[in-house]
Amino acid sequence: MYTLNEGEIIDSFQNMLSDLETITYGSYFCELVDIAIQEEESNRQLFKEFVTSFYLMRNNVVDLETLSVIFELKILKATGYGLNLDKCCICKRKLKSSNYMSLQYIGGVCDTCEKIKGIPISYGGYNILKYLNNIQIDKSYRIIIPENLKYEIRRILTTIISQNYFRKPKSLETLNFIKGSENYE
Ligand SMILES: [Zn+2]
Repeated sequence: MYTLNEGEIIDSFQNMLSDLETITYGSYFCELVDIAIQEEESNRQLFKEFVTSFYLMRNNVVDLETLSVIFELKILKATGYGLNLDKCCICKRKLKSSNYMSLQYIGGVCDTCEKIKGIPISYGGYNILKYLNNIQIDKSYRIIIPENLKYEIRRILTTIISQNYFRKPKSLETLNFIKGSENYE
């Protein structure tokens, strides 16, 4: 156990508390870090991405769902569960696009490999996922994703996250319930 004697708050992100959506997504990002990162583990790159996300949220310049997809991809990458989308995750052949994601190898599957232990994905969804997987978080405010593809991508990432970490994030459940959306399980 450590004792913290003194601290200075640089930014409390106080105004995020005035909006249900930003407070919910803010909690969700904290919960993701808590779930994915080991105690006492330091990750400066992820910390930078985390703080950048908070600034984007606070300034209301970004679509929260799109930002959360990009942050989820960063979290997965930072913890060794990065998505393999450029090559077939089974035979390692170069892959332009795919319509199937293997949950076992966390990546796209080509047309000649067997499509098992995974989930189908539309080519459009796959291409967006591939693009988002390589984007910097501070560029996320420029991106507009069609609603149906966003829903598809989020469902897949939720599945990957709940399969690979010991605990499933709960922060978004209430919001999804309020918004009446189909849940992302
Ligand atoms: Zn293959």
